[in-house]
Amino acid sequence: MSLCVNNSIDKIKHYCGIVGIHSLSERNIPQDLFFPLFSLQHRGQEGAGISYLNNGKLVTYKDLGMVSDVLGRYLEEDRKSTVGIGHVRYSTTGGNQVENVQPIQASCNKGDISIAHNGNFSNSDFLKSKLTEKGAIFGCTTDSELVLHLIAHSMQDTFYKALKETLCYLEGAFSMVMVREDNLYIMRDPMGFRPLYIGQKDGFTVCASESCALDILDITDYRSVEPGELIVVNSNGIQSEIFATAKRKAQCSFELIYFARPDSQIFDTSVYASRLQMGRVLAQQDGDEIENFDLVMSVPDSGNTAALGYAKESGLSYELGLTRNHYTGRSFILPTQKKRELAVKMKLHPVKEIVKDKRIVLVDDSLVRGTTSSIIVKLLRSAGAKEVHVRLSAPEINGPCYYGIDVPTKEELISTTKTPEEIAKHIGADSVKFLPVDKLKTCFDKSEDFCYACFNNDYPVEPKTGKDK
Ligand code: SF4
Repeated sequence: MSLCVNNSIDKIKHYCGIVGIHSLSERNIPQDLFFPLFSLQHRGQEGAGISYLNNGKLVTYKDLGMVSDVLGRYLEEDRKSTVGIGHVRYSTTGGNQVENVQPIQASCNKGDISIAHNGNFSNSDFLKSKLTEKGAIFGCTTDSELVLHLIAHSMQDTFYKALKETLCYLEGAFSMVMVREDNLYIMRDPMGFRPLYIGQKDGFTVCASESCALDILDITDYRSVEPGELIVVNSNGIQSEIFATAKRKAQCSFELIYFARPDSQIFDTSVYASRLQMGRVLAQQDGDEIENFDLVMSVPDSGNTAALGYAKESGLSYELGLTRNHYTGRSFILPTQKKRELAVKMKLHPVKEIVKDKRIVLVDDSLVRGTTSSIIVKLLRSAGAKEVHVRLSAPEINGPCYYGIDVPTKEELISTTKTPEEIAKHIGADSVKFLPVDKLKTCFDKSEDFCYACFNNDYPVEPKTGKDK
């Protein structure tokens, strides 16, 4: 069995990031799409693609690979257009095929349409079985294709009405962009699971999963797309309406803990400030125990900001005790065993002079299976660390996500079978502490507007299977 270096880092995986652009005057839209997609690379590294209007025709180009590999060609070409969308994708091993890379373009009775989607429909099995009964054929395994089928099956007399009808069938998480003729459609589900931002400057409109992707195009005047909002951008300007409302919001708390870039705004919140606060609360939780520690360090990069928050609150010094090698690449395959350990060592390495003889607080964002953490603790001990106390800015992960995040099975999640004390023993740490859900909530404004389901099993929308008829 071989192992990809980057897959060896035991992290929850995000599925996607999206971008949509419209311009009142012609410009090099494919090139404009490249930069925000590059900014969203952390949301998906296994596939990238764009669709744009070229002389009145919709053109899609996509492939497996990083944004710079797949879309770098557009930096050297000048292709005039007014509208386009783009997507970066992560896929599970079985689904890593080019057919599943987005955008997905189709010709149907409503014209040529292309769609890019971030999230997961929690009723996709149900809708797929209904459509298959009616003769629909699916060309890929992503559920985003469902939207195109539902639009094509709609009996409404305009595209806009067909789209609105379709949106009302969908449950779960969707932040989506769509292009048809010179129209950019922007949609976010009524509970607002996934982030989506929109901004404008001089007739140039950009929307993207996170604000860092707008910053790179110097769009500084932006706002969050509202839950349940449908926006149409075309040569007439911008029209917006709320197509549906929900009883509650369910913004993904894991976006703020780990997925989003720290320099982004999502859900009208600074990711950086939220993570700093999580670190502070972790330190408050440790109370007098802090006297027994010498320094704070993070597992880079995911634990950096929370570790800084811990250091600020505790007064302990913040040290860069683990060096991360950023040049391991995405597709490097290690052929033999020792593989997992070696793979982590290729990515993370301790700085001996910092960790030797020290009692360390090691801050990371979350603990999934515990495999990487046990290797990191072992590395620190080999480098002379006296004690290693692991602190996580996420609560214990207890269940799956039905809304666009790839969480391992319950059986694989270490917190479903072990207490923090047992986990500490298992990974070789002196102690392990999580940030409980009630304390995580204190880090958010309007904490009731967030989803915590993979931590507390309180699912805002129950998944509907194909048998629920
Ligand atoms: S279940 Fe977890 S990962 Fe999924 S949306 Fe809710 S908080 Fe986010």
